[in-house]
Amino acid sequence: MDNNCLFCRIVAGEIPATVVHETATTLAFRDIDPKAAVHVLVIPKEHHPDVVALATNDPAGSADLLAAAAAVAEAEGLRTDGFRLLFNTGAYAGQEVFHVHAHLLGGEPLGPMLAIR
Ligand code: 5GP
Ligand code: ZN
Repeated sequence: MDNNCLFCRIVAGEIPATVVHETATTLAFRDIDPKAAVHVLVIPKEHHPDVVALATNDPAGSADLLAAAAAVAEAEGLRTDGFRLLFNTGAYAGQEVFHVHAHLLGGEPLGPMLAIR
């Protein structure tokens, strides 16, 4: 655990979150500032700064994360109408929290993939 990491502290129970799904290796909780009707963050419990680090250093954890995201999409009823699953990575994507997290977005039409095009 990284004591300076917000999401490690959520995993440790030091900061409250609305948890919607948990496995031995993953945690999913609602984003504090939702950008869609459903906005859930899905994270590995282990600290990896971004998706490249996770994929490189923990392939099994990467698979667990994808499986957890799929389970949350099903549980939130997003499968019928669809959803978006994304990883902001680095400066160009505006990544703010450097503990890898998948954004699961849905529950309403999400518009174009990028607002700037
Ligand atoms: P990023 O920009 O790094 O891809 O996304 C970070 C996300 O974390 C943002 O969508 C932001 O709203 C969310 N976030 C930041 N602080 C907290 C918090 O304390 N609790 C929860 N649940 N989400 C947070
Ligand atoms: Zn962390």
